[in-house]
Amino acid sequence: MNEYFLVIIGGGASGLASAVTACSMGVKKIAILERLPRVGKKILATGNGRCNLSHENISPENYFGSYDTSHVLANFGKAENFFENLGLYCRTDEQGRIYPYSMTANAVLDTLRMHCRQVTEICNTCVIELYQKNHKWHILTENQEHMIAKNIIFSAGGTVATKFGTDGTAWDMLRKLQIPIVESKPILCPLRSDRNNLQILKGIRVKGSVTLLEKNKILRTETGEIQFTEQAISGICVFNLASLISKEKLTDYEIAINLFPELENSELIARLYSCQAVRYDSDCENMLSGLIQKAIARVILKKNNILSTMPCCQLTGQQIRQIAKLLQDFRFSVLGIVSAQAQACSGGVHGKALDENLQVKNYSGLYITGEAVDVHADCGGYQLHWAWASGYIAGKHCAEMQK
Ligand SMILES: Cc1cc2nc3c(=O)[nH]c(=O)nc-3n(C[C@H](O)[C@H](O)[C@H](O)COP(=O)(O)OP(=O)(O)OC[C@H]3O[C@@H](n4cnc5c(N)ncnc54)[C@H](O)[C@@H]3O)c2cc1C
Repeated sequence: MNEYFLVIIGGGASGLASAVTACSMGVKKIAILERLPRVGKKILATGNGRCNLSHENISPENYFGSYDTSHVLANFGKAENFFENLGLYCRTDEQGRIYPYSMTANAVLDTLRMHCRQVTEICNTCVIELYQKNHKWHILTENQEHMIAKNIIFSAGGTVATKFGTDGTAWDMLRKLQIPIVESKPILCPLRSDRNNLQILKGIRVKGSVTLLEKNKILRTETGEIQFTEQAISGICVFNLASLISKEKLTDYEIAINLFPELENSELIARLYSCQAVRYDSDCENMLSGLIQKAIARVILKKNNILSTMPCCQLTGQQIRQIAKLLQDFRFSVLGIVSAQAQACSGGVHGKALDENLQVKNYSGLYITGEAVDVHADCGGYQLHWAWASGYIAGKHCAEMQK
């Protein structure tokens, strides 16, 4: 039976951050147990392969859930500093999102692994049970292995993105230990809408603002790039709305897209009049082509019962106002969320069960990190920042305990 000082369950973002930290503080005998054939598979897919590893504005206000993140965030500091200390330089884009300087996710994974050379990586190993006996933790795996450790960092992630090893089954081990868990929900994902409306728009990307309404009441507005797919409306700004949707009330939700959020309605009407004047011998579709993509122009005109081939000089003032209204309040029903594409989940170990170092209050030597804690955030690097920060704090505290 192999015995370790620290066993980390899950070789994802937070597990690797805790391994690097504990290792750098002199901890010997660390093992990472990873169910997939290799560690860090999800890291490689983050930020479309570029890894949006943090955000320039990180504060507890960016995080939701039952755990108070202040101590962890304050003691971790900036993710750029954490990575610069490992030799990885970062850059920040116009939206404040932080990436590795090379804009490649594999640079992040390589960096973490470079600093884990003293750590035993055991892949293709799915942990199925944990129990504590005589102040030691026993770890049982699917392949009938039995290991012992003084400390465990549980970094097995959340309940979504199953192809990256995270399906939530690992949480059952914690439930067996009577650790309270807040029910999980997929978040950060596209919103499903009516296929008939989306058919003609699929593949289009536009800039604008998107508002989620519940029975016409505004819940939240986000601005950015909006993407239309065959069955859904997607894009980072849309992802941030998904957590507000409750399954029970699906029929109550609508999305309103404003394709000209920077203009007052009167300004847009004036712009349409000037297009009509300048392009008076064009049809309606071409009149709008200087403002919006043709496929969108076609849908907007159809919704207003205007033939796209009609000469634009025949548009009445009322029709121009109707077009302007739709361009700034383009409605789509919400039929649900595309949970299979969710990038994160809400829920996890309840904050009340954890101390400020993420140690389970009722079990010494058991720490929970990353998405397994009931903490979630918006898109934009916040999720990974939490993973590094929580992994760092758990790894550090564990290392301090060895002295
Ligand atoms: C496609 C995609 C893109 C994303 N892009 C971004 C982004 O750009 N920026 C951002 O901030 N966030 C992003 N996220 C979210 C971010 O990746 C996660 O929040 C973060 O990885 C969570 O870290 P974690 O350590 O909690 O878990 P994970 O990184 O998910 O790691 C958990 C690990 O545990 C392993 N595991 C699970 N169960 C067991 C078990 N029983 N035994 C052994 N091993 C087990 C899994 O195989 C996995 O490797 C993205 C997510 C996805 C899916």
